[in-house]
Amino acid sequence: MTDPALPTVLVVACALVDIDGRVLIAQRPQGKALAGLWEFPGGKVEPGERPEAALIRELDEELGIQVTEACLAPFVFASHAYDSFHLLMPLYLCRRWSGVVTQREHAALAWVKPSKLADYPMPPADAPLVAWLRDLL
Ligand code: C5P
Repeated sequence: MTDPALPTVLVVACALVDIDGRVLIAQRPQGKALAGLWEFPGGKVEPGERPEAALIRELDEELGIQVTEACLAPFVFASHAYDSFHLLMPLYLCRRWSGVVTQREHAALAWVKPSKLADYPMPPADAPLVAWLRDLL
């Protein structure tokens, strides 16, 4: 049962899927919470921002790619109670983008077959998404 007094943080995340069916994951850098763990790229939704707009902004900032809203397919909601906040995180699927995926803010990037995603340690909010992706892709 989640503590109702905990603030909710809304983060959007994206599973970019390439032509070979591999998914992009990114390693959180030193100095950030959960450093070293692998996540689906994305970030916090700012006040007044639509989730899709936030994801488009974050993918550009973090990876240097441009996506259109029409290419973002809402897929599944992650929800996790951390000690000091409750994270809500919709994950979108995206198979089309422009620009070249570039490592800008993460410690590393990896294109991973869905069956291998479980080999990469992830934050507790992201980890349950792996089974969904494995089943879908
Ligand atoms: O990325 P950022 O540090 O702004 O995200 C805020 C918090 O949301 C993180 O400290 C982490 O606890 C959580 N988070 C997560 N999975 C992600 C992104 C963020 O659990 N993919």
